Amino acid sequence: MRLDKWLAHMGYGTRKEVKQMLKTGEVTVNGEKIKDPGFQVTPDEDEVFAGSEEVVYQSTLYVLMHKPEGVITATKDEEHETVLDLLEIDDVILEPFPVGRLDKDTTGLLLLMTDGKLAHALTSPKKEVAKTYEAELAQPVSENDIQKLEQGIALEDGFITAPAHIEVMNETKNLVHITIIEGKYHQVRRMFGAVSNRVERLKRVAFGPITLDEQDLEPGEYRDLTEEEVEQLV
Ligand code: URA
Repeated sequence: MRLDKWLAHMGYGTRKEVKQMLKTGEVTVNGEKIKDPGFQVTPDEDEVFAGSEEVVYQSTLYVLMHKPEGVITATKDEEHETVLDLLEIDDVILEPFPVGRLDKDTTGLLLLMTDGKLAHALTSPKKEVAKTYEAELAQPVSENDIQKLEQGIALEDGFITAPAHIEVMNETKNLVHITIIEGKYHQVRRMFGAVSNRVERLKRVAFGPITLDEQDLEPGEYRDLTEEEVEQLV
């Protein structure tokens, strides 16, 4: 793996900041000063120091991505671009996988991590992690529909959803924030289908305590979760 990429993953700043740090000559690999950001390291074998501090190999990686439209939530696919293809991680050592799934056309907050135990817990129905979506609807949503969706509604296969929370976001009442604690296939689209409406655009804006920072992350961009964010998830 490239030295700059690894140092960035280990929390030594952005790739740009790390390159700057390398220029100052404070990074050594196996005792040798390395200034080349593209220098190849094997994280669990090479001894890397940033100044007097040893950069300890960390096998867990937590990423927050602003998923763009048209990309599938999978690790590999023969036909379609996947969210993993968007990550500049060309080394298998730190390859995270997506936590839950967003439809191909859904955009917004997607977590990816190497921590399988936490990923599993976060997607377990028992944990009831709240997910909030911004949905643009074909029709205005009525008070009656809101009530039905908030009480729990029967989907076309008979599954009855847990109570959701709905906040209307515009005057024409066709833009809403809906918060659900489950993660059934196409759930939000099917919930609005159950009240004879249709979701035209769907974006996830929050996952548990983590919210999408749209000013900082354009669709397709991603960043590492901070330590505090990881702690909030655990
Ligand atoms: N509900 C949906 O219908 N689609 C998603 O991608 C996520 C939740």
